[in-house]
Amino acid sequence: MVATPRYVFGPVTSRRLGVSLGVNNVPYKTCSYSCIYCQLGKTTNLTVERRVFYDWRDVVGDVVRAVNEFRGRIDYVTFVPDGEPLLDKNIGLEIRKIKESVYPRVAVITNSSLLHLEDARMDLLEADLVSVKIDAVDENVWRRINRPHPKLSLSSILDGVKEFAKSFRGVLITETMLVDKVNADAAIMERVASFIKLINPAKAYISIPIRPPAEHFARPPSPEKLVEVYEIFRKMLGEGKVELLNTPEPPPPSAHGSPEDWILSTASVHPIRLEHALNSLKAISEDPEELIAKLEAEGKIKIVEYAGSKFIVRCFEKRK
Ligand code: SF4
Repeated sequence: MVATPRYVFGPVTSRRLGVSLGVNNVPYKTCSYSCIYCQLGKTTNLTVERRVFYDWRDVVGDVVRAVNEFRGRIDYVTFVPDGEPLLDKNIGLEIRKIKESVYPRVAVITNSSLLHLEDARMDLLEADLVSVKIDAVDENVWRRINRPHPKLSLSSILDGVKEFAKSFRGVLITETMLVDKVNADAAIMERVASFIKLINPAKAYISIPIRPPAEHFARPPSPEKLVEVYEIFRKMLGEGKVELLNTPEPPPPSAHGSPEDWILSTASVHPIRLEHALNSLKAISEDPEELIAKLEAEGKIKIVEYAGSKFIVRCFEKRK
């Protein structure tokens, strides 16, 4: 039986990226933000210091092995870790080495907060697709929704995003999370859409919390509000440039390797629907229900109900 590597998870099916092999290049909840809607829970290591967390050879080695194993079935290798991927000082080197070794398309999902730093922007130029988070362009709204590290400045970040957009030759997309009574307001979103227009992304995605959030008050807006915001974006950016991410994600492809490692590594990066996990695990486990009950009893996962669905959430207390 092949053990699941330490720094990759999935592949998972992503609505933006197709079949995506995830790369987890920073330790759990090491982030420059502590977003109220974060599906990983509250940030435990709030930092803006870019540093080396792992040996880049180990990260690249895991990715190369997994890409070879799933050859032809992966659309993107995606840096979408348990925190902010650009906090990893080696990310540019890792992207370059992965591309030199196995030629996949590489995506990075960033919260944008380090784009005022030239070295972070340079590292990102190595990617084929970059998704930047733009939840707010008003200081007070940004502080409420993203709860940034005190050293961060919104105006510097927005200047950094513009600077990056000018030099990036890959596919740039944006993601805006709407939270009821926080940023899902027409006037606030007019200003967000105006900013996004300046950077001219291939697509602007509007999402809502569909998995259990860090704070119970981070609720999705009403369908009417969602349509209102969509229309604001559509008028500002043009038909075909805006997409809603407001439906549950598609089920992941079949599980592989050790069933326990698969469920723990996949759930460590985002809560996974219980029904999807049970279906995927059928490929490698004789009794997926029993496995999930065992992991729950051992305190490695918990089952959480949110918006009418059950999710498996990873418990990290004992994680190194
Ligand atoms: S949603 Fe992303 S940026 Fe926000 S706290 Fe979670 S990991 Fe950090």
